[in-house]
Amino acid sequence: MKVVVTGGAGFIGSALIRFLITNTNHEVINIDKLTYAGHLESLESVAESDRYSFEQVDICDGKEVEKIFEKYSPNVVMHLAAESHVDRSIDGSAEFIKTNIVGTHVLLESAKKYWLGLDKENAESFRFLHVSTDEVYGSLGDNDLFTEETAYDPRSPYSSSKASSDHLARAWYHTYGLPVLITNCSNNYGPFQFPEKLIPVVILKALQGENIPVYGKGDNVRDWLYVDDHARALWRVIEQGKLGETYNIGGHNEKKNLDVVHTICDTLDELVPKEAKYREQISFVTDRPGHDFRYAIDASKIERELGWKPEETFETGIKNTIEWYLKNMDWVEAVTDKNYNLERLGTGK
Ligand code: NAD
Repeated sequence: MKVVVTGGAGFIGSALIRFLITNTNHEVINIDKLTYAGHLESLESVAESDRYSFEQVDICDGKEVEKIFEKYSPNVVMHLAAESHVDRSIDGSAEFIKTNIVGTHVLLESAKKYWLGLDKENAESFRFLHVSTDEVYGSLGDNDLFTEETAYDPRSPYSSSKASSDHLARAWYHTYGLPVLITNCSNNYGPFQFPEKLIPVVILKALQGENIPVYGKGDNVRDWLYVDDHARALWRVIEQGKLGETYNIGGHNEKKNLDVVHTICDTLDELVPKEAKYREQISFVTDRPGHDFRYAIDASKIERELGWKPEETFETGIKNTIEWYLKNMDWVEAVTDKNYNLERLGTGK
């Protein structure tokens, strides 16, 4: 099959492409604008494969997106391209509205036009997977879980733009019959994550001997999923998912942010010991405006219906991740060079 992956130079998209090239015989076409978050360095291990192609395209550019459909005649589209960082969405929402909402609309329209021109067999097997987040469901109290039936209640510019794109994807299934599937996933972590998100920021600040910023009191709860488990889940949904359905994907790894930070500090004490403990660098900073208290996923539907469950525990996944950053500082330098120096974002000022 020919699989178009949008946002394939990003954190999850690159993990998905590495998974597809390594574990399947399919051809992969990576469509990416290469924003500050997109880096071809993350694809060096597969870039030489004759089953891999790259096109630098903005998904908001309808003409260019149509050309991709004409040139490659894909069987599958896996749509991951997005502006993905909540803090950046607080400082400037316009790019989030453009890429996440307008870009998804452009892609759905181009896919529909292409799909309507396919013969019966290819039209029936065509798949469009829209990859989304659990943040569309809003914020939880202490006990409940997000299911696929939880009402949408997004609170940040990022999550509301993703909620809009989910609604568009669902509408293109119900209105036009486009073979759409949707996934909503919890927080991902792992190798190749741009160092603006919690886990890589903490690792790098700790190693640089700087203050490790923890928002508020650090008691917000997130459910963490190792990125390679997410990649496997997305492909399982393509292979076995029921059209028009939504699948929640989660890691059964609920952790308070402060506990995540403590785990990283304690692991670094073991791997890169120094006189003072890394925990001493923790510094509590003003909370993120509108910070959702807790996200937790009920991922029983994808396990029951498609037989997927995460393979990595948080303990093994976080150790792999820390070891990966320690060995790949050249990647960190390449992707942050001129781009970003780990400064605080999203204060709303
Ligand atoms: P990322 O920010 O690391 O990567 C996004 C990629 O999209 C980058 O390569 C960027 O260059 C590309 N891109 C941005 N705008 C584009 C445009 N207009 N045209 C083409 N390409 C463009 O994001 P990620 O963490 O890999 O997330 C991927 C997807 O998964 C997103 O849709 C996100 O909402 C979703 N998601 C992420 C998480 C998470 O924890 N990171 C959790 C659940 C869902």
